[in-house]
Amino acid sequence: MDITIHKTTAPKQKPSMDGIPFGTYFSDHMFLMNYTEGQGWHDARIVPYGPLTLEPTAMVFHYAQEIFEGLKAYRTAEGKIQLFRPNENIRRMIRSSEKLCIPPVPEDIYLQALKTLVELDQDWVPSEPDTSLYIRPFVFATDPHLGVHVAHTYLFCIVTCPVGCYYPEGLNPVKIAIESREVRAVRGGTGYTKCGGNYAASLHASDAAEKRGFSQVLWLDGVEQKYIEEVGSMNVMFKIGGKIITPSVEKLTVLPGVTRKSALTVLKSWGYEVEERDLSVDELIAAAENGTLEEAWGTGTAAVISPIGEISYKSKKYTVNNFEIGELTQKLYDTLTGIQWGKIDDPFGWVVPVC
Ligand SMILES: *Cc1c(COP(=O)(O)O)cnc(C)c1O
Repeated sequence: MDITIHKTTAPKQKPSMDGIPFGTYFSDHMFLMNYTEGQGWHDARIVPYGPLTLEPTAMVFHYAQEIFEGLKAYRTAEGKIQLFRPNENIRRMIRSSEKLCIPPVPEDIYLQALKTLVELDQDWVPSEPDTSLYIRPFVFATDPHLGVHVAHTYLFCIVTCPVGCYYPEGLNPVKIAIESREVRAVRGGTGYTKCGGNYAASLHASDAAEKRGFSQVLWLDGVEQKYIEEVGSMNVMFKIGGKIITPSVEKLTVLPGVTRKSALTVLKSWGYEVEERDLSVDELIAAAENGTLEEAWGTGTAAVISPIGEISYKSKKYTVNNFEIGELTQKLYDTLTGIQWGKIDDPFGWVVPVC
């Protein structure tokens, strides 16, 4: 498919990367493509970044038929630009599409759109240490219509923004609180999809946790509220008695993270025993109490690896690894980011060059 390009005549001034807040400054261009029932996806175009015009009755505003993705473009020491496993994000969005009854964006057009947009805005891919260009593709229902049913028209949009570390404090351990009342996902629901509604529904609990001084909530399963699922919008892993334990994604309540999948592959290649299974809070707290909980971390594109230094449960606090970054957590961060920035070999073939 041809992508029409309308270049901006007023390029923006680029922000300073020093302490840049996450997701605040957007690059010069965005990608748009429309879907109309009977016609399919059409009018692929790149236009100057700017407001969209939508009817107040656009169905997304009322019924939240929307999905998104998050990935990054990295600049290597040689000045080249590369993506990290973009087809994983593309395929995940196709799975999200199916659940939300949104017509899937074909994989080849999607990848072409990502590469073309990043190449056009290549000057926006920063070169400072620990920086990258965050890419946010999303699709939503645009029909101007009230009434709950599957929409007939959609817009696919991709915007990008230069980012530094996700947490202003950098790679430091965070404090998390186990949430024992509210849940993020239920069996048979949308937990495995990146749909906006999941995040709207998580705000109440995460806002309350933040006000109590925690950076994220550790979600439990929606059936028994007994098993660990995810931490905030990251997957979670624990090193207990030398083994790596992480909640399985099989029940479709946990988001199947690309960083999670990559971390597990790297850990297995290092000879670690990895268990993807149910992990109850009781088992986790027992491990914290008897000293076998060695390390804990979250995984996600935005922060890559986020060490967990303290876990709070029912007003008791458990410190992990003396509130320091664990050795394995650090090694995993260095390896994944090393591959992403092209600082080390990519033995798994994960990197996709852009230009
Ligand atoms: C995006 C996301 C993740 C992490 O997925 P990555 O592909 O590694 O970025 C984990 N949990 C939730 C709820 C998410 O939205």
